[in-house]
Amino acid sequence: MSEPVLYIVATPIGNLADLSERAREVLGRVDHVAAEDTRHSGRLLAHFNIKVPMISVHDHNERQRAEHVINLLRNGESIALVSDAGTPLISDPGFHLVRAVREAGFRVSPVPGSCAFVAALSASGLPSDRFQFIGFLPAKSGARLQALEALSENTETLVFYESTHRIVDSLKAMSEAFGCERYAVVARELTKTFETIHGDSLEGLLEWIQADANQQRGEFVVLVQGAEKVLDDESINPEAERILRILAKEMPPKKAAGVAAEITGYKKNRLYQLLID
Ligand code: SAM
Repeated sequence: MSEPVLYIVATPIGNLADLSERAREVLGRVDHVAAEDTRHSGRLLAHFNIKVPMISVHDHNERQRAEHVINLLRNGESIALVSDAGTPLISDPGFHLVRAVREAGFRVSPVPGSCAFVAALSASGLPSDRFQFIGFLPAKSGARLQALEALSENTETLVFYESTHRIVDSLKAMSEAFGCERYAVVARELTKTFETIHGDSLEGLLEWIQADANQQRGEFVVLVQGAEKVLDDESINPEAERILRILAKEMPPKKAAGVAAEITGYKKNRLYQLLID
């Protein structure tokens, strides 16, 4: 009997032809497929004529289901974990299961494939050497803005997942937190018929998306260019201070510090502190 394994199998994010040959082979060979939504994944398996018993493992039953999966592995059975689309555990269930199975001493093996943020990043034209994957932002507007403000000085490319319901609100919040001039890319409906990858300032993106309701439909990855590298020098040069003071006459201190930070490269907090002092 071969060693029992929990396989983590990536499935397509739109285009069914993206299911790898190895994924098909593994899905056809395992004793059970553990799926986030058994009906949804059942259709994928049916499309490939794969008939395997399914068990449901989703956000709300994952911890209890781990024990069941471990018992199946103890019986020598192999299991493939899939999510609704893309790579399991990436803004999808599976973390608790993988951890429990590894702790129980069983082998966990990935069968890599589609992942929306990797696909988006690879085609965005934004720096991909260093990036931060954030996934979904909080649904409530206050918490969302707070989360974004905490990222505003991050110099790495920022990567977000967004749904059709919140794309406009999220772009507005990003514009507020990062400044309307910050360059960003919207990657929509990747690998599907209406795939669109569009880059502009956050202000430009908002105008573009609000002008066409069709562009607000579907699934989105939003990638935001990192903040300009800040100067480490604690002392602020006279030109930067002059810009800050001019701006502070026209707008509230926090905003003035934010705009001056974008222009001069100094940290927003440092400039704000200078104004307050
Ligand atoms: N596990 C998936 C992965 O590997 O990308 C992500 C699952 S998460 C629940 C679903 C989100 O991924 C969507 O709301 C959207 O932000 C993003 N997404 C999934 N498919 C996409 C696609 N075809 N184009 C753009 N974004 C997509």
